[in-house]
Amino acid sequence: MKIFVVGGAGYIGSICVELLLDEGHEVIVFDNLTEGHRRAVDERASFIGGDLARREEISRALQETKPEAVMHFAANALVGESMQNPSKYFRNNVAAGINLLDAMLEAGVRRIVFSSTCATFGPPERLPIDETLPQRPINPYGESKLIFEKILRWYDEIHGLRFVALRYFNAAGATEKFGEDHRTETHLIPNVLKVALGQKPQVEIYGTDYETPDGTCIRDYIHILDLSRAHILALGVEQSAFYNLGTGGGASVREVVDVCRTVTGKNIPVVEQPRRPGDPPRLIAASEKIKRELGWKPQFENLRAIIESAWRWHRKFPNGYGD
Ligand code: UDP
Repeated sequence: MKIFVVGGAGYIGSICVELLLDEGHEVIVFDNLTEGHRRAVDERASFIGGDLARREEISRALQETKPEAVMHFAANALVGESMQNPSKYFRNNVAAGINLLDAMLEAGVRRIVFSSTCATFGPPERLPIDETLPQRPINPYGESKLIFEKILRWYDEIHGLRFVALRYFNAAGATEKFGEDHRTETHLIPNVLKVALGQKPQVEIYGTDYETPDGTCIRDYIHILDLSRAHILALGVEQSAFYNLGTGGGASVREVVDVCRTVTGKNIPVVEQPRRPGDPPRLIAASEKIKRELGWKPQFENLRAIIESAWRWHRKFPNGYGD
C-alpha cells in the first residue's frame, strides 16, 4: 500500500516507517521536524517537510501523493509539559489534527491509524486496563488525545473515515537503525541509559510514596517493533476500532533502573524527587482485544530484551541523530 506517515521522523513514527518499508509498502513521511529528525527518516521513504498547523501544506501534500492510508504520529507527548502548557497540547494535538482529517476527506483518503495513549484513561478503577474502562484523563496530554479519539468517531459516523486508534502504553526499545532521541529527554529509559553512558550524573526518581510495592510508578513497557506491527495489522481493518496496546506486564521505576544496571553493567546512581504532576501510579494494558481481533502478539515480552535493544542503539549513537 501507499502510506502517508505524519510524524514519521519521530521516535515511534520512524520505526513504523522502517517496518512498513521492510514489508514492501511505499512510504511518504510528512513532518515539521520540531520534534523529529531528518536523519530518522529511512532513506527508502520520500520526505515532505510541512506543518499540520498550516492547512494548505497538508492539503497539498495529500492531493499530490494520493495515499491509500494515513498514519498519524505527529503530536506533543509529554505529560509534565502538558501540565505547564495545555494550550500547546490542544493546538497541536487537536486543532492541527483536524486540519489533517479535513485534508484527508478533501483528497479522498478514508483510512487512518492514530497514535493514542493510555493517558486517556487516567488512574483506572481496575487493572489491567481494557477498552471498556471509563476514560478520565488527569493531564492535558491525555485529554487532547481523548478529544481526538472522539473527533475520529464522529468523522467515521458522518464522513465514513475509517480509523484505528491504538492506545499505546510505554513505548521503549530500538531497532538497529532507529531509536529514541528527544531534544528534551524526559522519558525514563533513555534518561537512565544516558546516566549509563556518562552523559548525566544521576537518575531522578519522581515519587517514591505511591501505593505500589516499592513506592514508585508502574508502567507497561512495550517494544517499539511490537507497536509498529500493530500499526501494520491495523491497515487491514474494516471496522473502526480502539485498541489498547501493551504487554500486560508492569515494571516500577526502580525495577527499570535495576534492569538497566544489569544490562549495561554500570552503577547508575539515583536521587529521589517529589512526584511529577499528572503521573498515575500504575498503568498496565489488557491487549486481549487486539490479540483476538487482529491476531497481534508481542514478540518482546520481557523488559530486559527491550532495554537491551535500547542500550545497543544508545551505544551506537551516543549523540542520537546529532541535531
Ligand atoms: N520517571 C522518573 N524519572 C525520569 C523519567 C521518568 O522517575 O527521569 C518516571 C515517571 O514519573 C513515570 C515513569 O517514570 O512514573 C515513566 O515515565 P515516562 O516519562 O518514561 O513515560 P510516561 O509514563 O510519562 O509516558
